[in-house]
Amino acid sequence: MSRILIIEDEKKIARFLELELRHEGYEVETAADGRTGLEKALSGDPDLLVLDLMLPGLSGIEVCRRLRHESDVPIIMLTAKDDVSDKVMGLDMGADDYMTKPFAIEELLARIRVALRKPRGAGKSGGGKEVCRVGRLSVNPASYEVRFGEETVQLTRKEFDLLYYLMQNRDRAVTRDELLDRIWGYEYTGDTNVVDVYIRYLRHKIDERFGVRTIQTVRSVGYLFSYEE
Ligand code: CA
Repeated sequence: MSRILIIEDEKKIARFLELELRHEGYEVETAADGRTGLEKALSGDPDLLVLDLMLPGLSGIEVCRRLRHESDVPIIMLTAKDDVSDKVMGLDMGADDYMTKPFAIEELLARIRVALRKPRGAGKSGGGKEVCRVGRLSVNPASYEVRFGEETVQLTRKEFDLLYYLMQNRDRAVTRDELLDRIWGYEYTGDTNVVDVYIRYLRHKIDERFGVRTIQTVRSVGYLFSYEE
């Protein structure tokens, strides 16, 4: 039986989620503020977290950030705002998925099932664990290390997964939908601009920094990894 920790300060929502998840057969714990939530997440070793972003004490983003130093537990964020930067920040801090309130409980349950099915600690890069090298760029999916020549490139988990996936599929145009599906892990509805935001981060950290061209935009399709010095 999977154990789910709900970190949510709105009592009504927390109670509703608790009842629905129990009904689905999950073991459920709740916390009403960020600090308690973080403690329970660290000590209780839950299988999945449902984490509200707007919390008293410690924000959801901060809980996510701190937790990621210790744990790769799947995290589904709840956000009140339909604000892309909030979601991007949460995903950047290592959350696996998010839902905007108000949401349909069926959709949350579906995403919980998806998140629980993913292999833990294996990353979402899929397939092999081989180091991928193109030109001076090398990406190691086992250690999550990215190097350009002798330089280390610091990437977040999602940036890493995105880059690695594009490199594995190099010289093939990959659609935004495919990237959302493979990197964010479910049939995404709307917000394909999350991909564009992450591509921008990667271009900033690699192309602009080292004066190369690695990711091309394929108009009205998506992106293509193609290394040019
Ligand atoms: Ca809240």
